[in-house]
Parts: sequence; C-alpha cells; structure tokens
Amino acid sequence: MTSAKPKSSTQTLKKSNLGSRKRPAARRRTAYTKAELEEIFRRFSIQRPEPKGELEHVNAFTLVVAVALSAQATDAGVNKATRALFKVADTPEKMLALGEEKVRDYIKTIGLYRNKAKNVIALSQKLVDDFGGEVPRTREELVTLPGVGRKTANVVMSMAFGIPTMAVDTHILRIGNRIKLAPGKTPDEIEDILMRIIPEQYLFHAHHWLILHGRYCCKARKPECERCVIADICKSPERTCDVPAPLVELPQQVIGATE
Ligand code: SF4
Repeated sequence: MTSAKPKSSTQTLKKSNLGSRKRPAARRRTAYTKAELEEIFRRFSIQRPEPKGELEHVNAFTLVVAVALSAQATDAGVNKATRALFKVADTPEKMLALGEEKVRDYIKTIGLYRNKAKNVIALSQKLVDDFGGEVPRTREELVTLPGVGRKTANVVMSMAFGIPTMAVDTHILRIGNRIKLAPGKTPDEIEDILMRIIPEQYLFHAHHWLILHGRYCCKARKPECERCVIADICKSPERTCDVPAPLVELPQQVIGATE
C-alpha cells in the first residue's frame, strides 16, 4: 500500500497564494494641481474659443458614418470621400437604397473600405429596424450599431447632441502620457482620468482642444514646445522650452495640414 505523498512546502505556498493577494489598483492620477488644470484649459479656450471637429457631416446620421469611416484614416481623406456620398445618401434609408456596392465605390480611397462599406449598410439597417431611422443618444445604444465602438459613440454624443464626453484618439493618448496629464495604458483609463480632472466649464470643448493641441503643437514625432501656450506649466520630460507662446486666438486650422 502506498501512502499519499506529503505536499512540498512550495506547493503549499503556491496554493495559499501568500504574499500575492492583489491590492486594489491605485487610482491613476494627473501630475497637475487643480489650479494648473484650470490654467491649462483657460489658455486652450482663449486659443480656440469655438473648436470644431474636422469631419464633415450634415446631420447626426452622416456624423456616425463619417466617424465610423475615420478609423485608421485621416479626417481629410474621409471628407474627400464622404462629400459625394452624403449628397446622395444623408439618411439610413437612402444609404440602404444605394446599396453596399455603390457605398464601396464612394469610399474606396479610404483604408479598410470593404469592411467599412459593410458596416455602413449594417448600421443603416439597424437604425431603420431598431431606432426608427434616428440616431440614438445614449452610449449604450450607440455601441450596438455595427462599426461603432466607445470612441465613435463619444464623438457622436458630443458633436451631434452636445453631451460632454472624452473620445480618446491617438493624440489624446499621447498627450495624456507625455505631459502626465492623464497617465494611462488604455484609452478607457485615460478617458476616466480626464473626465474626472478637467474643470467642468471646459469639459465640453476639452476633447477638441486636446486633439488640436496634439495635431498642431504637441506633435507625435517632436513636440513644438516653443509654440506651446502651456510650456511653463507642462511637466513633460520631453519639453524643450519653458517659456509659453503668446496667448492669442488662432485662425481656424486647415484640415489635414500636418497629416
Ligand atoms: S511644452 Fe512641449 S511637451 Fe509640453 S505640452 Fe507643450 S508642446 Fe507638449
């Protein structure tokens, strides 16, 4: 008769999981004080009092389509293709009547156009079937549309319905980490921090200010710190200048100028 082997001490340790009990993750923080945050967004608001999204659209439906098409494509590229498309199809019903093949022809200059054309038709169908042809206003409903993720839903809520949201794109992801405004690994983490820390009166436009700041000043390859209005407040290790640029209103920026 063989007797059961006694468990080794390592096994016992592994099983009891001593010392590896997970602590709740510390809530990620911004590196900026309340007063600094107030000042950063005050300056952005002077630079761009009425920032506008650069995706052309004529109603909530065409905005949903434009945002869905803009994944991995530039706004300028999307606008070029949608100008003609939206002339013939600015409602889900008209988009369905046009059909997937023709939609594909209109958008074939945009990356991943086959899949995107499929999604445009599928989301039009869903809008007709489940929402009476109207674009829904809540994030929960918007993300049920094919090709619409959290980021697209946030953009639509903000631009079509005036609900403050923070759609984290590549520029916001970079700035959040580079200047330690909202350090985070995922867009959701960064969104969560920004929604908590941005002063309420600036929240509605903050999304566009950050994107435009990233696109035209705090650029991916090399930030242009000498042109930056928050150079004296910025806590980025990449900062090359600590004198803020003159605080003046900027002319409307040209679409796709730097992309
Ligand atoms: S100072 Fe430089 S690194 Fe900091 S936000 Fe401005 S451009 Fe970006």
